[in-house]
Amino acid sequence: MAVESAAMLAWLQRSASRLHEQRTYLTDLDAAIGDADHGANMDRGFTAVMAKLQAEGAPADVGAILKTVGATLVSTVGGASGPLYGTAFLRAGMALAGKTALEPGDIEEGLQAALEGIKARGKAQRGEKTMIDALEPAVQAYSAALASGQDAKAALAAAADAAEEGMRATIPLLATKGRASYLGERSVGHQDPGATSCALLLRAAADES
Ligand code: ADP
Ligand code: MG
Repeated sequence: MAVESAAMLAWLQRSASRLHEQRTYLTDLDAAIGDADHGANMDRGFTAVMAKLQAEGAPADVGAILKTVGATLVSTVGGASGPLYGTAFLRAGMALAGKTALEPGDIEEGLQAALEGIKARGKAQRGEKTMIDALEPAVQAYSAALASGQDAKAALAAAADAAEEGMRATIPLLATKGRASYLGERSVGHQDPGATSCALLLRAAADES
């Protein structure tokens, strides 16, 4: 089944609710290796996203919705994660511009564009203890699931599982990008907050589909 505007909005709403519920957890993770604002940042951004989409009315064009999300995150979320998630949504929106329904392959394209956007903006690679450690394995798992003949629902579930595994695998990593890198060896032993919010967004997508 194709993903239309209503399903995209439902995913964003579920993400906003879960980010709100999990804001203290995300902020506590950031307190250990950053500046204790990741939960507040993400909650503020997604609250603004939902307010904007409700005020303006969501377009049928799914790419346009994603671009609105990206622009809103860039302008309302402080810190590193605002421009990074903002770029991810903007790039996905550009890749899917004009589409009113997403087929499984479109979702793959959007995920890939989001990942490339984050890498281009933040100059990080997998293994540096960032949101990429959740998103890259998720994109790969989604692609592999489609290639093996699974539908979008199963592929999104595989992506969410891979993101959570990647998130947990950030614990032993040494941070070499972002604020956590200032801690050097003291960043080891803590789960990355951005990888955690990324896994949360993907789980919300899997649960929604
Ligand atoms: P800040 O670090 O500016 O306070 P946040 O706390 O909102 O911003 O977000 C921190 C998260 O951003 C980190 O946990 C990490 O996942 C992510 N991050 C930081 N720098 C980069 C980067 N260069 N590339 C990818 N992700 C990054
Ligand atoms: Mg922070």
